[in-house]
Amino acid sequence: MENLSNIGVVKDILARHGFSFSKGLGQNFLINPTVCPKMAEQGNAQPGWGIIEIGAGFGVLTAQLAQRADKVVCIEIDQRLLPILAETLEEFNNIKIINQDVLKVDLNSLIAQEFPHMPVAICANLPYYITSPIIMKILEDRLPITSLTVMVQKEAAQRICAQPGTREVGAVSIAVQYYAQPQILFPVSRGSFMPSPDVDSAVIRLDIRPQPLVQVAKEEDFFRVVKGAFSQRRKTLSNTLSSSFGLSKAQTARWLEEAGVSASLRAEQLSMEQFAQIANAYTALYDTKE
Ligand code: SAM
Repeated sequence: MENLSNIGVVKDILARHGFSFSKGLGQNFLINPTVCPKMAEQGNAQPGWGIIEIGAGFGVLTAQLAQRADKVVCIEIDQRLLPILAETLEEFNNIKIINQDVLKVDLNSLIAQEFPHMPVAICANLPYYITSPIIMKILEDRLPITSLTVMVQKEAAQRICAQPGTREVGAVSIAVQYYAQPQILFPVSRGSFMPSPDVDSAVIRLDIRPQPLVQVAKEEDFFRVVKGAFSQRRKTLSNTLSSSFGLSKAQTARWLEEAGVSASLRAEQLSMEQFAQIANAYTALYDTKE
C-alpha cells in the first residue's frame, strides 16, 4: 500500500483520476501520518472487532482500521471515490465499501448482517457539514456499538463533550451525555488536512453507556425539555419552557414546582437529574398523549 499521508502520493491520485475535492461533501482528507494510527488504536480497532467508518475519502483511515480489526465496513456517499478506493485498498480483503448517504442507511440492520456476534465500534473523520445529525442518528438508533470515535471541529468537540452545569454546555451535550460518556482524545491542527479547512479539529470518543445516564418516563418529553430549555439560553426556565411548550406562566410554575427545580435557573445551570425531573413532571402533569 502506498503512503496515503504523503502529499506526492495524494497529488498523483488526484491527477491520474482527475479527482477534485468537493467542499459541499466536507472533503478534507487527512495527510498527517500520526493521526490515523492513533485514531484507529484509540477507536477500538483491534483483533476480533468490526468497525464501521463513515466517509472513506482516499482510504487513509480505512487502511489503518483494516490493519487492526477483523472487518471494516465503510459508508461513502461519493461515487467518484470508488475506483480510487479499489486501488488504494487493493491489498485488503476485510473491507466492504457501501456507496450510500450514511443518514439513509439502516445501521441496525447493517450491523446485524455484517457483524453477527462481533463487538463493533464506529471510527470516522466526519464530514463537518453533518456532524451533529450523524452523531445524533447513531445515538438515537441505539446501535449495539461500544464506542464512537470521531474527528470533528474543535468547537463542536468542546460543545459535544461539555459537562452539564458549565457555560459551554448545550442541547447536544445533554443529549450525548444521556447516551454516552464523552471525552476529547487529542487535538488535530488544520494543517493536517488537504485541503486545509479554516478551523482546527479534535478527535473525541463517546463510550456508549449500557443504560441511559438518567431514567425518564418518556424520552420524547426529555428531549423536548432539553431543546426548549436551551432555545434561548440566557433566559430562565420559566420563560423558555412556557414559550416552547405553549403553557402559561402559572402552568409552568406549577410544573417546575412539581419537578422540584427553581424556575429562575437557566438551562446551563441544570444537572442531568434536574432535566430528568423536569421531563418526568411534564409527563405526569401535562402529557396527555399515550
Ligand atoms: N476518511 C477520509 C480521511 O480521513 O481522509 C475522508 C474524510 S472527509 C472529512 C469526509 C468523507 O465523508 C468524504 O470522503 C465525503 O465524501 C464523505 N461523506 C460526506 N457526506 C457523506 C454522507 N452523507 N454519507 C457518507 N459519506 C459522506
